[in-house]
Amino acid sequence: MTGGGARRLVILGATGSIGVQALDVVARSDDLRVVGLSAESSWERLVEQATAHGVPRVALADPDAGARAAQAWTEGEVLTGPEGLVRLVVESGADLVLNALVGSAGLGPTVAALGEGIDLALANKESLVVGGELVTALAEATGAKLLPVDSEHSALFQLLADEGPGTVERLVLTASGGPFRGRRREALAHVTVEEALAHPTWSMGGKITIDSATLMNKGLELIEAHHLFGLAYDRLDVIVHPQSIVHGFVHLCDGATLAHLGYPDMRVPISFALHYPERVDVPVDTLDLAAVAELAFEPVDEAGFPCLALARAAGRAGGTSPCVLNAANEVAVHAFLGGRLAFPGIWEVIEGALERIPPAPVRAFDSLYEADREARAVAAELVQGLTLGGAAR
Ligand code: NAD
Ligand code: MG
Repeated sequence: MTGGGARRLVILGATGSIGVQALDVVARSDDLRVVGLSAESSWERLVEQATAHGVPRVALADPDAGARAAQAWTEGEVLTGPEGLVRLVVESGADLVLNALVGSAGLGPTVAALGEGIDLALANKESLVVGGELVTALAEATGAKLLPVDSEHSALFQLLADEGPGTVERLVLTASGGPFRGRRREALAHVTVEEALAHPTWSMGGKITIDSATLMNKGLELIEAHHLFGLAYDRLDVIVHPQSIVHGFVHLCDGATLAHLGYPDMRVPISFALHYPERVDVPVDTLDLAAVAELAFEPVDEAGFPCLALARAAGRAGGTSPCVLNAANEVAVHAFLGGRLAFPGIWEVIEGALERIPPAPVRAFDSLYEADREARAVAAELVQGLTLGGAAR
């Protein structure tokens, strides 16, 4: 049951992997009341969720889907289009917004929430990768909290809670290594979409699953960590840990290293962000270390999986580069999922886009929307070139 004092929550991307798990967390909590839900086009599922959780308004990014929802569902209000999404964020009286959209489409709602001073639980790492300093500066200016949902960043956020300034030497993000860990670079040329979608430890949406297979997910996470925790790139490390039990490490100045452990279940970081600063019960097994017996780690194969180095370089270059990296990656992943691009084509497209679009300074969000558009156009051309080149061989 939800009480009158419950925290009012808007969930963006409610029909996705994170959205559905967030609703599971909400259903078990007395402290949260959902006041808005959004999806791109799956309106039937969204209306079902709204009915099940007693939610008064929904937003659909796709206008046709919105029109159908409005016809079928008369108990609540239906908003549509990108403006509908922003209205859902700013006009629902939310105390907290969970942004679980996928891709740079999440930037607008992130800016809308933080701009209004509404606390933001952020699963949509892309909005922080793209928006970088502007997003963190906006949160600082309005006093809104930026709470990471990404498991590694949630782990580091928890570990860093009591650390004074100057005590942290290095942060380490763990990576499962994805389904192609240990494969040689040549062997990656012919992997299929199905193989790439078979993640060994996490069950997630399609885009992030492909990002995990290329290691771009960890590249995006490096940039995300840089902005969340304010550490230079040479103090952020990635280590492969195939079991996904340790989510992050903090190396401190006195030689101590802190680690955050738990079975891989996104409801843990989701619940932490939604209830922060409280902790509540989550129905996951207590870690049985004797059963786990050993924890394994290995270095990242940076030569075999070039996306991580591309992301680190784009992060260091700064300006519009992370935005270009992200947009090119979205276009390339979409093409790979559609069978129009080979797996190694993903990093070839990203590298090509970064070469053709040099980093420019970012003065306002408009420079980012423009760089995103330009990078998508360049990446689409590069995809076409690679497809044609491939067909001619
Ligand atoms: P998903 O594809 O399962 O769900 C995406 C949701 O966003 C859906 O509800 C969809 O309808 C909506 N959506 C998609 N495109 C949209 C658009 N253009 N406009 C409006 N709505 C749109 O994705 P997911 O796996 O839940 O991931 C969501 C975000 O969380 C991503 O940024 C991902 O990197 C991050 N994340 C996910 C996991 C995970 O376990 N799934 C873990 C860590 C971080
Ligand atoms: Mg992660």
